[in-house]
Amino acid sequence: PFEVLVVGGGPAGVAASVYTARKGFRTGIAAERFGGQLNDTLGIENLPGTVYTEGPKLTSTLGEQVRENEVDLMNLAKGSKLLPAKEAGGLHRIELENGATLSARSLILSTGARWRPLGVPGEDEYRNKGVAYCPHCDGPLFKGKRIAVVGGGNSGVEAAIDLANIVGHVTLIEFEDKLRADEVLQAKLQSLGNVEILKSAQTTAVTGDGSRVTGLDYEDRKSGEQRHLDLEGVFVQIGLVPNTEWLKDSGLELSQYGEIIIDDHAATNLPGIFAAGDATTVPYKQIVTAMGEGSKAALSAFDYLIRTEAA
Ligand code: FAD
Repeated sequence: PFEVLVVGGGPAGVAASVYTARKGFRTGIAAERFGGQLNDTLGIENLPGTVYTEGPKLTSTLGEQVRENEVDLMNLAKGSKLLPAKEAGGLHRIELENGATLSARSLILSTGARWRPLGVPGEDEYRNKGVAYCPHCDGPLFKGKRIAVVGGGNSGVEAAIDLANIVGHVTLIEFEDKLRADEVLQAKLQSLGNVEILKSAQTTAVTGDGSRVTGLDYEDRKSGEQRHLDLEGVFVQIGLVPNTEWLKDSGLELSQYGEIIIDDHAATNLPGIFAAGDATTVPYKQIVTAMGEGSKAALSAFDYLIRTEAA
């Protein structure tokens, strides 16, 4: 068994593994896809200390650091079940989809999240070519341009307010006949001069010229008419889904959105099990925050292991 098993190999999991390995603990990472969301990220310009990098390049540097610290990396290893220890100091077990079982006295769960896609033609084709999911990351790429934000919940309206400050014009597109965001956010949005709000509008396609986004098609759900907007960017804000489905019914506490509930020491409700990054209730899902949370979870696991007798 491992002393620490990290489940998930994104920025949070890698940071955690480097910390516990450097404390001298036998550490493993089981990851469905090492690098996580970084694999889908082109330019990264907001990671302090790194002026510019690209997701796959950062993934490869993280891989090097994992090897350097003698972490046992199991890639293409997807956790399908968590069996928590029955007694304090006992072994927690993780069943993998491939049938294997891994065990460790302490677990760090960092299985990340995924943006809910629109699922319309053109979305995949123009991902990173005008279709974006993270306003904090990609907003500045659309300086002065016309963009749409799809989704009228808190994240969509926040994104529209944020982007209106950077881009030339924002069209907010909501499927329902009203926005679901907090009133105060809606009032702020309506006060902005370069924002238009379309309700009862169903996005049906992202259009492009073969290399970049040129617009968006939608159906006016009231009249049934098909309409088109000329745009240079589309931000999809219809939800971030934590990769925690596999943890249901394990005894681990999840929020109503499926996020792993942690305290300010990255501890879950189960002793010896910690969590970090986009899969948790910690707000603001970013690389730098995921790495910071991963290191916190690792130091908490260290505290746990030195205070708890092995069962
Ligand atoms: P993830 O990166 O999601 O990693 C999760 C890991 O867990 C992966 O290895 C995954 O394969 C694995 N996993 C999932 N389920 C299981 C399972 N059941 N068993 C085992 N392993 C599992 N942030 C920035 O700060 N700057 C940016 O410029 C930026 N750009 C982005 C661009 C895009 C297109 C996207 C999608 C995100 C971007 N982000 C950016 C957000 C950033 O990538 C995430 O906040 C960060 O990767 C979260 O790290 P994480 O380790 O918590 O999760």
